[in-house]
Amino acid sequence: FELERVGVHESVDPVFPASELSSYLSDLPVDVDVIGDDEIDACDAVVTLEHREAFLEIDWVHSIQAGVDRFPFDALEANDVILTNSTGIHDRTVGETVAGYLLAFSRRLHEHVANGTERRWDKPAWDDAFTLPGTSACVVGTGTLGSGVADVLGALGVHVTGVRRSGDPVPGFEEVYANDDLLEAVADVEFVIVTLPLTDETHHTIDADVFEAMDEGARFVNVGRGPVVDQDALIAALESESIAGAALDVFGTEPLPEESPLWGMDEVIVTPHCAAFTEDYFRDTGDIVRENVDRLDSGEAFHNRIV
Ligand code: NAD
Repeated sequence: FELERVGVHESVDPVFPASELSSYLSDLPVDVDVIGDDEIDACDAVVTLEHREAFLEIDWVHSIQAGVDRFPFDALEANDVILTNSTGIHDRTVGETVAGYLLAFSRRLHEHVANGTERRWDKPAWDDAFTLPGTSACVVGTGTLGSGVADVLGALGVHVTGVRRSGDPVPGFEEVYANDDLLEAVADVEFVIVTLPLTDETHHTIDADVFEAMDEGARFVNVGRGPVVDQDALIAALESESIAGAALDVFGTEPLPEESPLWGMDEVIVTPHCAAFTEDYFRDTGDIVRENVDRLDSGEAFHNRIV
């Protein structure tokens, strides 16, 4: 297709100002403008966070997220719309966020922050704090996020294992289990960390059986997608203290409803789907768009093409 105008859809604004990305791409040999819903039909391509029905009338949609579960693959395909995503850029950001969760648990930082809001000088129990070297983390999903998590945690002395469909080795993971051995993989580790995308196959991969298989002292982390986890089973496991805590960036319903019991739990850290936030986000995603504009020009296949 002929690319003349790329719209940066205003739905990207919670992640970065749309105008930052349009300026960053202003040297492309096409027009790049910030657009709202009423200007979609005047574009050949859009860069977006959210989906809109009007995208079915254009040629190319680029998602600024890695997760594309919100897009209707069949309808896009039926309308010959190309969909690309932003996987490949969130390794370090999400890896550092997960390291932050683990350090909060080990050094009790979330407890101090909570005490601070009430001006309370309260030391942790003598045996609540620990150090990370020698602990083990099982990372479910060994793609970009999983590898980024393994890199950062490995540097902190954490023994990192992984779970993937095949069970074949992946650099950065000391041991890799196949999906069929998930329950064995999550037993006897201090941390279970989910980095899976949401697909028909991964829905509720983490269920009551997984929480049952985990140690009572273990903590659970989800930075993939909420519905990969049976959230009711997670809440039940936390309430019955069959696991020791959780750090969650993604939820079954977002924003996490005010009445969710997860908000009130001392050993649960809630972050509002921002594990990959960085001031460099518009550059990182812009570089993928730029690469694909170049590829379109030279007739090569798109990078990160999903549909
Ligand atoms: P990726 O494509 O690099 O990695 C996904 C990995 O999951 C791949 O290795 C794939 O083989 C594996 N996988 C898929 N289905 C599987 C299954 N049924 N069993 C086992 N493994 C399976 O993608 P990524 O960049 O690592 O992102 C992964 C997901 O994390 C995204 O789809 C998105 O939903 C989520 N994400 C969340 C944030 C955040 O802010 N919290 C940021 C980026 C990505």
